Amino acid sequence: MKIPFQTTVQLLLASLTLAAPFTATAQKKPAAKPANAESAIREADIKRDLFALAGDHFRGREGGTLDELKASVWLADQIRATGMLPAGDDGTYFQWFNLQRTRLSKSSTLRIGSHEIKLNEDGAVTAPTNASVNAPLVYVGTGSASELAKVDIKGKAVAVQIAGAPTDGISYRRYVSGKFVGQAGELVKAGAVAVVFVSDPKQQALYDHWSHIYERGRYSLPGAATTRVVSTPPVVWLPASAASWVQQAGQQLTAELKVESFQYPSVNIVAKMPGTDAQLKNEYVLFSTHQDHDGVRAPVAGDSIYNGADDNATGCAALLAIMRAFKQQPGRRSALFVYQGSEERGLIGSTYFSAHPTVPQSSIVAVLNAEMMGRNAPDSAALLGSTPPHLNSSDLVRTALAANQAGPKFKLDTEWDKPTHPEGWYFRSDHLPYARLGIPAIMYTSLLHVDYHTPRDEASRIDYAKLTRMTRWMYLTGWAVANRTAPPAREPGFKLER
Ligand SMILES: [Zn+2]
Repeated sequence: MKIPFQTTVQLLLASLTLAAPFTATAQKKPAAKPANAESAIREADIKRDLFALAGDHFRGREGGTLDELKASVWLADQIRATGMLPAGDDGTYFQWFNLQRTRLSKSSTLRIGSHEIKLNEDGAVTAPTNASVNAPLVYVGTGSASELAKVDIKGKAVAVQIAGAPTDGISYRRYVSGKFVGQAGELVKAGAVAVVFVSDPKQQALYDHWSHIYERGRYSLPGAATTRVVSTPPVVWLPASAASWVQQAGQQLTAELKVESFQYPSVNIVAKMPGTDAQLKNEYVLFSTHQDHDGVRAPVAGDSIYNGADDNATGCAALLAIMRAFKQQPGRRSALFVYQGSEERGLIGSTYFSAHPTVPQSSIVAVLNAEMMGRNAPDSAALLGSTPPHLNSSDLVRTALAANQAGPKFKLDTEWDKPTHPEGWYFRSDHLPYARLGIPAIMYTSLLHVDYHTPRDEASRIDYAKLTRMTRWMYLTGWAVANRTAPPAREPGFKLER
């Protein structure tokens, strides 16, 4: 289902951007190193832009909502003011795409024994499915082979106690979501018509957090497998308190689950600074970030607006500053700036842009992605994509490390780029779809912190001096890539671990 306001908004935005005046590009010969990294990239500009974007006015910029569109129009206005040219569709700063969203409808019901389960409070269905179940419930402990040998689960709903902890270095969240697919799949193969997991009492906080998130359903680009409507046996997750009653014999599980699936618009914002070299200007250094965050959600300490100041208004403000620097002193190659929508819904804008770029895909020589750059110790940062198997251009990484030495001299963390790190950080931002296409890609970040994805990720908690130095580091890297003769070499045999 398309939302009718899309056409109106598109026409409005097109007319706004077409009316924009553009000044001619200054054609200066580039120096060996940009002289304006200090003067053009100013903390005061970054702070002003960040406070505006991470203010309550934009209500957390959730992907696929009017709040994301409103923030995107504001960003396009700021981009136009820097003097960058539009590089989206049809001469605008925008590239539109649709999200597919699939979720359980509100009319869905679930009952176990005498317990009416209010969905996403008393229990959560872990994947949207059309299902009609009326079956006896059997409890199988943790579901070990010996426990399963004692019962016939064919045609039954099977209740399992979650226990244990990951042994292979993954996070507990991934351990549990692995069970919802792996262990549930085995039980269904053995004839179960529904699977009910009971939370480990030690890990109740995970249930409290995720049970509400499941209500939102799944998002993808249209046609992806993750949002296809299915009619598989339901997988239910109950809080730890259910352990006291779910084991009782003689209970019946009845479920009437209905899926709704629909589309609505999200947007990438795309701008460019043309290069000065007649040949090289047909190649692009792509500066990447995302403008969306998590919108309005469950309140924490009375605040329900998830402003995403670090995640990722830092990246948005950084790119604006880099645009001002490129306007003063253009590179030989062109600079392309892409704000990707709906990153938080699953890297959707970057997946779309990398597959449908508004410049030829082969003309993108490098992707420099800005993701959360304003927290943690003032002298520490990380460059993801700098160690195997995530390294897809040691040439680009050398340039970035040299830029760090020439500029901010951050102490660089190397732990978070390792394939054994439990957070899997490399796989959680917009450089990933480009890297998968073999395009040299790196991610600038100051890593996770306790306020991540909470309403406490506020503009007042950002280290602006650090963010300014992170921005200069990205600029120095991008400027070097824009001006060198050969594009960054690609690593032969690059292959990610997942
Ligand atoms: Zn982010």
